[in-house]
Amino acid sequence: MTTAPIYLTTTIPYVNAKPHLGHALELVQADVLARHYRRRGHPVRFQTGTDDNSLKNVLAADAAGVGVQEFVDANAEAFVALAGPLSLSVDDVIRTSSDPRHRAGVERLWQACASAGDLYRRHYEGLYCVGCEAFYAADELSSGLCPEHGVRPQRVAEENWFFRLSRYAGRLRDEITAGRLRIEPAGRRNEVLAFIAGGLADFSVSRSTERAHGWGIPVPGDPGQVIYVWWDALGNYLTALGYGSDEANLARWWTGASRRVHLLGKGVLRFHAVYWPAMLASAGLPLPTDIIVHDYLTVEGRKISKSGGASVDPAALAGEYGTDAIRWWLLRDVPRIGDADFTRERLVHKANDELAHGIGNLVNRVVAMIGKYRDGVVPPDREHAPVSVGRAGHRAPAAIDAALAVGDFRQATAAVWAIAEEANRYISQARPWLLARAERDGDQEAGRHRQLADELKPFLPDAAARIARQTTALDGVLPPAQPVFARQESNPAASATFSASASCNEL
Ligand SMILES: [Zn+2]
Repeated sequence: MTTAPIYLTTTIPYVNAKPHLGHALELVQADVLARHYRRRGHPVRFQTGTDDNSLKNVLAADAAGVGVQEFVDANAEAFVALAGPLSLSVDDVIRTSSDPRHRAGVERLWQACASAGDLYRRHYEGLYCVGCEAFYAADELSSGLCPEHGVRPQRVAEENWFFRLSRYAGRLRDEITAGRLRIEPAGRRNEVLAFIAGGLADFSVSRSTERAHGWGIPVPGDPGQVIYVWWDALGNYLTALGYGSDEANLARWWTGASRRVHLLGKGVLRFHAVYWPAMLASAGLPLPTDIIVHDYLTVEGRKISKSGGASVDPAALAGEYGTDAIRWWLLRDVPRIGDADFTRERLVHKANDELAHGIGNLVNRVVAMIGKYRDGVVPPDREHAPVSVGRAGHRAPAAIDAALAVGDFRQATAAVWAIAEEANRYISQARPWLLARAERDGDQEAGRHRQLADELKPFLPDAAARIARQTTALDGVLPPAQPVFARQESNPAASATFSASASCNEL
C-alpha cells in the first residue's frame, strides 16, 4: 500500500451570496474522499476556500449598498462556517482577497507564464457573461443567451493580456488520453477532448482596472489592468500550498504528491480541465492527476440560484435534520450522472428508511440482545477477534475503493448499506437471540457492527462514532442500547427527537 501524500481540493465559490446546497454537495464529497484516503494510510491535505475577487461580488455588494471587502467577509464567513454543521475535516481554507499567501503566488504564476513567453497584449472584442466571468463565442450561446445563466452577455471591447492556450492543445490531449490527467466520469473526459479537438484559442487573462471597479490583483508591471478572476481563482490551488511563499510545503503537497485531485461542478469543467492544466504546463509545474466532476442539484424541481431562485441553506438544514441525514442524502440519493432533485421528503425518507430503521435498529437489536441474554458481556478473547463478516462485509472495502476512485458516492454508500442489509437478513433468519442463549454469535454480531461503523466513517463520521461506542465493550461489557439515529419527522417543526426506537422492544 502506498502512503504518498494526496492533495484534494474543492472549487472556491464566489461569495456574492450565502452558501447553498450545491456547495454542500461538493464539500461533503470532498470530505468523504479525504477521510477515505486517510483511512487508507495516506497523508491528505483537504483544501477549500472562497473566490473573493470576482466582479460579481463587486456588483452584489453595490446592490446591497455595502463595501466590497465587508460584503465578501460576511459571506465568506458563512462558507467557512459550514465545516461544523456538515462535519467537514478541512485542513486549510484560503480566501483570495485577504490571504497573504495568495497575491504573492498569483503574481509568481503570472511571471512564470510570462517568462515562458505565454502572455501578450492585444485588442479584444467579445461577448462577456459576468455570471460566468467568461467570454463566449456567438455559436456557444443558446438563442443569444449565456447557456449557464440565461442572460444576454455584454459586448466588451478593450486591450487585454492574453495567454497562449493554443500552444498546449497537443500536450493536454496527450495527458488526458494517456490517463495521466484523469477526468471522471468518462462523458466529461470526452467533452474535454472534443473541446480540445475543436481548436484552442488563446484567452484573455486581464481586465481593465476600470471595468473591474478596481477590485482584484493588479497585473505585475501594468497597473491599468487586473488579473482575470479565473486566473487568480485557479491559482488558489497552488498559492494555498505556498507557491511563491513556502517552497517546502509546495514540494510536499503539489510537486511531491502522488495525486492532485480537484472536485468540481460541470459548469466549470473547461476552466479546470483545459485552462488550468495549460497554465501549470506553462509555469513548468506538474498537472493535476484527477478531475472529478459532479452534476447539479435542483430544489423541488427548480434550478438552485443564489439570486432569487430556489435555495436551501445547508447550515439551517443541518440544524433541522442533523448532519448525518444531510450527508446521507447527498451521498446516497444523488446519482453519479445527471442532476438530482432535493426535497425535504426525500431526505426524511432516506434518513428514516436506511439510517433510523435500517442501521439504527440493527445496532440496537444486537446490543439489546447481548444486554438481555448475556448482561452485555462480551468475552475478552472475542472482543477484538476477527469476525466472519459475511459476503457484503468482505466485498465492501474493495467496492468502496473502486466506487470512490471514479467519484461514485452512491455506489460507495451502497456497499456500506449492503453490510447492514445482510446483517438484518441474518438476524431475521438465524434468530440469534435464541443462539445467544447458547452463548454464541452475539459478540460476533457486535463485531459485524464494528465493521459497519468502520466502513461508515468516511461517509457519516458522527454516526460511525456513536455506533462504535455502542458496540465496543468497556471492561468487557457493552453500554446499554441507545438509539444511534433520530427518527425524522417530515415537518421539521415537529422536530426529530431521540425516542427509543421501536425495535429495541422487538426482542
Ligand atoms: Zn453565464
